[in-house]
Amino acid sequence: MKGLMQDWQLTVDKVLDHAALNHGDREIVTRNVEGEVVRTTYNALHGRAKQVSNALLKDGIKLGDRVATLAWNTEKHMEAWYGTMGIGAVLHTVNPRLHPDQVAWIANHAEDRILIFDTTFLPIVEAAKDQFKTIEKFIILAAQDKMPENSLNAVSYEAWIDGQPQEAEWGNFDEQTACGLCYTSGTTGNPKGVLYSHRSNVLHTFITMGVDTLGMGAADVVMPVVPMFHANAWGLAFACPATGAKMVMPGADMSGKAVYELLDKEKVTITAAVPTVWLLLLTYLEENNLKLPHLRKVVIGGSAVPERILRAFEEDYDVEVFHAWGMTELSPLGTLGSLPAELADAPHEKQVAYKLQQGRPPFGVELKVVDDDGNELPRDGETSGRLVCRGPAIASEYFKGDGGNILDESGFFDTGDVGTLDKHSTMHITDRAKDVIKSGGEWISSIDIENFAVGHPKVANAAAIGIYHPKWDERPLLIVQPADGEKPSKEEVLKQLEGKIAKWWTPDDVAFVDEIPLGATGKINKLKLREMFKDYTLPTA
Ligand code: AMP
Repeated sequence: MKGLMQDWQLTVDKVLDHAALNHGDREIVTRNVEGEVVRTTYNALHGRAKQVSNALLKDGIKLGDRVATLAWNTEKHMEAWYGTMGIGAVLHTVNPRLHPDQVAWIANHAEDRILIFDTTFLPIVEAAKDQFKTIEKFIILAAQDKMPENSLNAVSYEAWIDGQPQEAEWGNFDEQTACGLCYTSGTTGNPKGVLYSHRSNVLHTFITMGVDTLGMGAADVVMPVVPMFHANAWGLAFACPATGAKMVMPGADMSGKAVYELLDKEKVTITAAVPTVWLLLLTYLEENNLKLPHLRKVVIGGSAVPERILRAFEEDYDVEVFHAWGMTELSPLGTLGSLPAELADAPHEKQVAYKLQQGRPPFGVELKVVDDDGNELPRDGETSGRLVCRGPAIASEYFKGDGGNILDESGFFDTGDVGTLDKHSTMHITDRAKDVIKSGGEWISSIDIENFAVGHPKVANAAAIGIYHPKWDERPLLIVQPADGEKPSKEEVLKQLEGKIAKWWTPDDVAFVDEIPLGATGKINKLKLREMFKDYTLPTA
């Protein structure tokens, strides 16, 4: 017997329809690429997104066609986002931190027909232009009189949508229709496309709205610093209009000063970004003796939260930290570190220790740890294995079938991360499977070593990699980027780890570099580090 409820297809156009109708006056505030702060509302944004739809339809864009953006978090990116998805075309967010050759490779693989981009990214597009095979039209997110000189025959975004009606038919297609496309950073092989559906994005939106997840309400002011081009700004580009929260978009400037100004002037209550952004902000706050009176919650993920960032927010600024783990393939949220009931009144130190772990999966994410043969391992907080997961917003395969089957026999996706789960399913990630240091057949967690090392005030960044060792197979080498003007000694750095990690995890050596290489999503590029140190001989070898 079938239930007798209405057929209401889960398509993301309904999210912005809802915001315009019920929260029409709520603002979206943007620092645009020229540095000015501009304001619009959900109602106005909805009208302009429909103009984008009409302009796309006029250009012959149909259901399933790919429209790419190379753009910062701005109100215009939101318009292009909903304008594209609303008519069933696929919004492909391209990561501008990639090399132009990779941008071209990705655009060709996706078969993008239109590329919409911010003026700041003109040099990338110009550099890649001869390699693009499918792009028919370049659109620059600028008014006609602000168009930069270019050799692309590019069109002004404002001129492109000017005069288009603010009415267009949205939705009215199957909820399984493709909606968004995002390529993973791909540390090995070519990048792979994750193809979100309308249904998966809507369900992920419901997941993110929960209090233990990103948890926002209509009265909140939310600033997604995490970019829309990286895993849907962790779902905030959907969750904010779905709840009617005011949005604050930082545009191109993510300096401590710029982020602080928006947090303060717009009275932001919830914000989200990777640790690097927060380090810049915390340094700025400290140097200028500033406070964060409006902010109540900061979501930190993308890489593990260093203890000193967690403590600074909670102890110095009274802002609650939510540690998040996820990945592009998970839409992207996998676990979040809100406190469980039994820790609500626990001593602060106990709460801090808990929050340094990655948290628990929300409803909609089934998570387990397995051994190399796929057998489930105990949830004892100790046994570490591969993290695999299943859910309605988790990839079942990559775009065009690249990489073949990515699900195991039980239909779970292998995240490539290694970690433990305790009896409440609190997850502690210890490594990427390929970054694990294998010493004498046992695993050493590079992430833990790195996190404790960056706790030293003289250390700006740190990475641990496995180096060949004749007896142990591999032993850890700690690579350190000193803080500005500092010269920490090897002994000082190792002392920082004492008592925090098992003795046998202690790195056999410390090497100093001017800069630790980062990948396109701001994570440490271990592949490059391993290349740099491939001939390194440990003193213990
Ligand atoms: P991406 O798909 O580029 O967002 O990268 C996802 C990967 O980032 C995950 O598979 C993890 O290896 C890493 N990651 C994300 N969040 C965290 C976290 N909170 N702690 C440690 N690693 C993380």
